[in-house]
Amino acid sequence: MRYLVTGAAGFIGSHIADGLRAGGHEVVGLDSFNDYYDPARKRENAEGVDVVEGDLVDADLEDLLEGIDGVFHLAGQPGVRASFGPDFEHYVTRNIHASARLFEAAARRGARVVYASSSSIYGDAESYPTREDARPHPISPYGVTKLCVEHLAYAHARTSGLEAVVVRYFTVYGPRQRPDMAFTRVLEALATGREFHLTGNVSRSFTFVADAVDGAVAAMERGKPGEIYNIGGGEGATMTEAIALAETIAGRELVVERHGTATGDPGRTRADVTKARRELGWQPTTALAEGLRAQWNWVAGRVAAL
Ligand code: NAD
Repeated sequence: MRYLVTGAAGFIGSHIADGLRAGGHEVVGLDSFNDYYDPARKRENAEGVDVVEGDLVDADLEDLLEGIDGVFHLAGQPGVRASFGPDFEHYVTRNIHASARLFEAAARRGARVVYASSSSIYGDAESYPTREDARPHPISPYGVTKLCVEHLAYAHARTSGLEAVVVRYFTVYGPRQRPDMAFTRVLEALATGREFHLTGNVSRSFTFVADAVDGAVAAMERGKPGEIYNIGGGEGATMTEAIALAETIAGRELVVERHGTATGDPGRTRADVTKARRELGWQPTTALAEGLRAQWNWVAGRVAAL
């Protein structure tokens, strides 16, 4: 098959592109290499994949979608905290506006789309573990834009026959994780001896990136159009527990400076993946200790090379 991966130079998108190529598929990537974090990191991520530099907001999508069977739509503006304040316009443009253009073009071309949504759409969920039919109630502007894009996909599916499948990712981690995410910051602090600032002590369904890739591919191959699937790691842990595990893996103690609670971050997420197991034949397979070790090896290698 020939796939387009949007956000192919980002954390998850670059792993999806690599996974598809390893599976014998043809991959075209698109990425704007924006400066939400160092674009040089994105160039590193994208080594080995054919990535076109362009922005979904104004790229020639008809051309890009020529001969494409399916689109893995990972391009977007992530990050909960930065979505409060003046940067919100990036969330509107890069999540809502960009996705609307892509959905229209994909519907015209008859290309299936897997959209990477987020557990943040649940906010403080009404029940744990959380099923896909729980009431969505985001508590951050980021989560609001992710939910909006899910609804956009549905609207295009109903009106123009877009074949869209939504995966809701729960905190993805592993090599190449974004520099603003907690595990990267914990492991970089361990590798450099600097202190780590811990805001609150959230509990998460941490999802290893290889499991996230398998979930997206399963959704492309077996997902029902119009359906939503939780893709979340099997083991839940609090940040304090994850830090203790990281210290054991690194063989060092972390200097932690604790702060209050983080605005917009739900205290807890926990994925119920019964639907993905039943309909996609997917379930997470990587234990937190194993995944964290893989990320530690990556972070320690980068820090040593500096
Ligand atoms: P990332 O920032 O590493 O990757 C996103 C990539 O998209 C970046 O390389 C960026 O340059 C590119 N991009 C942004 N806007 C674009 C546009 N308009 N046109 C072309 N390229 C554009 O982020 P990530 O952590 O890999 O997340 C990927 C997707 O998965 C995002 O949509 C995010 O909301 C979603 N998601 C991530 C997580 C997670 O834990 N990382 C959890 C839930 C959902």
